[in-house]
Amino acid sequence: MVLNRILSRNFYNLPNSHSSMKNFILVDHFEDLDAESKYLAHKAKEASTHAYAPYSKFMVGAAALLENGKVVTGCNQENAAYPSGMCAERVALFAVTSQYPDQIITKIAVVAKRKSSKELLPATSCGPCRQVMLEFEARQQSSIQIVMQNKDHQWVVAPSAESLLPFSFSPANLEHHDDTHAG
Ligand SMILES: [Zn+2]
Repeated sequence: MVLNRILSRNFYNLPNSHSSMKNFILVDHFEDLDAESKYLAHKAKEASTHAYAPYSKFMVGAAALLENGKVVTGCNQENAAYPSGMCAERVALFAVTSQYPDQIITKIAVVAKRKSSKELLPATSCGPCRQVMLEFEARQQSSIQIVMQNKDHQWVVAPSAESLLPFSFSPANLEHHDDTHAG
């Protein structure tokens, strides 16, 4: 984890062109994931059982690993007024801010399943969740690995939210905007 922070020190100096897949880990079987990712995915699966998803029946769980070893989980929260709901990842991430405001998030796992089944389904984070993860990376100045299952049922470990958002809009954009007006 220390290495992770060192490698990410120049986070915002990197060119915004991480569409290359070379830093992604892709494995065909859950057993082939590293132990930490498997543990987090298990925690995410546990959390998914608490999802409130009466409309989609798509139960999603997320588990964020902190530098102090704590795991903070979230599950999706649907609402009769659909846009009022919230994804599992953001439930977990916002809970980290309220419970461990000074902690760095090193990794987050997201899994999904149907309410009536134990089998996991492909679930990759949506755009807004990736955007929120990107903001956390900017705040903590280090990358967050993202563990998820793609549509081919492969397990993916993405090196960062930034890697999932080429040409992203980040806090750096607003800094530049302020400079322009100040000048
Ligand atoms: Zn989402």
